[in-house]
Amino acid sequence: PFDVLIVGGGPAGAAAAVYAARKGIRTGVVAERFGGQVLDTMSIENLISVPHTEGPKLARALETHVREYDADIVNGQQATKLEQVADGFRVTLASGAALTGTSVVLSTGARWRKMGIPGEEQYVNKGVAFCPHCDGPLFKGKRIAVIGGGNSGVEAAIDLAGIVGHVTLFEFDKVLRADEVLQRKLKSLPNVTIVTSARTTEVKGDGKRVTGLAYEDRTSGEIRDLALEGIFVQIGLVPNTEWLKGTLSLNARGEIVVDGHGATSMPGVFAAGDCTTAPYKQIVIAMGEGARASLAAFDYLIRLPAG
Ligand code: FAD
Repeated sequence: PFDVLIVGGGPAGAAAAVYAARKGIRTGVVAERFGGQVLDTMSIENLISVPHTEGPKLARALETHVREYDADIVNGQQATKLEQVADGFRVTLASGAALTGTSVVLSTGARWRKMGIPGEEQYVNKGVAFCPHCDGPLFKGKRIAVIGGGNSGVEAAIDLAGIVGHVTLFEFDKVLRADEVLQRKLKSLPNVTIVTSARTTEVKGDGKRVTGLAYEDRTSGEIRDLALEGIFVQIGLVPNTEWLKGTLSLNARGEIVVDGHGATSMPGVFAAGDCTTAPYKQIVIAMGEGARASLAAFDYLIRLPAG
């Protein structure tokens, strides 16, 4: 078995692997897609000390760093089950194979929920964005829409209103669902329009970039067009933890509940990054948490009875 078996090969998993391997313990990483969400990202400008990089380049750098050490990478494999066994844990893969670890770090990340409308997929990174902290500055002075009137949508709209020219916030329901205090703040901003009872129907573009958004006014049934340069989709971040349901403690959103050491409800199993309850889903945060979970796993291992 591995001393530390890491499930997930994004920034969190890569950091966990480097930290574990540097302790000289047997380290394995199993990942569906090594690199994780970073692979789908164009420009990254908030990884401290790296003023600018691109997703695929950062993903390669993560892999190169892990491969500097004696860590096994099992790529292209999906974990489907985690179980406690006599001397640790067994992770079963979709292929039917299984890997075992005396301790485990879960870092399976998350995925942004999409609107599922024509044009959206085509214009991801070309006007369609998901992360205001990451991509907000790219839309300085421009017209943008935020989709979703929950807390994340309204927070994003408030944040972006300080950077962009104009924000239109779209909510499907008749009313916003965000906390009252956030709604009040949003309504006080001069460059924000709120559209409720709206169902977005199409992302429009010129082949290169987003040029507008079509939506249905759910009260009248009328389809309307809004010209803009950017669309921030804020309708949920879904953790990749479906396979862990019933195994360890998840919150209502499906995030793995962790404490300040990255420990989960299962002693010996740690978690890091976007799949956990730790707030603010960012690369630099996922990396820090991966390092911390790995150090916590090492502390757990050295306390196990000898033999
Ligand atoms: P992920 O990157 O999601 O990695 C998860 C890993 O687990 C992957 O290897 C995946 O294949 C694997 N996995 C999942 N399920 C399983 C399973 N069952 N079995 C095996 N493996 C599995 N953040 C920034 O800081 N700056 C940015 O500019 C930025 N831009 C972004 C742009 C886009 C378009 C997106 C989508 C995200 C962006 N983010 C950005 C967010 C950032 O990418 C994430 O916060 C970060 O990647 C989280 O790292 P992670 O390791 O926790 O998870």
